[in-house]
Amino acid sequence: MNLNCRQASELISASMDRPLTRWERTGLAIHLLICSYCRRFRKQLMWLRRVMRRVLQQADRGRPQSLSPAARNRIRRAVGIST
Ligand SMILES: [Zn+2]
Repeated sequence: MNLNCRQASELISASMDRPLTRWERTGLAIHLLICSYCRRFRKQLMWLRRVMRRVLQQADRGRPQSLSPAARNRIRRAVGIST
């Protein structure tokens, strides 16, 4: 199983939303070993998700400058967080 970068980045995105199958995990792990571009992409995506989740959590706690519910939903949709 030899993924190209497009397939690998799709799997990286998918892995944020669902567990990957054994074959998907294996293929992705092999690709990440040989491809620094996709390693970087994965790191950036994980970082972005972490930051956005923190923003949303703070908004949910009702900080004074909190986002409007519509803005929160837009962010959730944009980064694919369903919580
Ligand atoms: Zn790649």
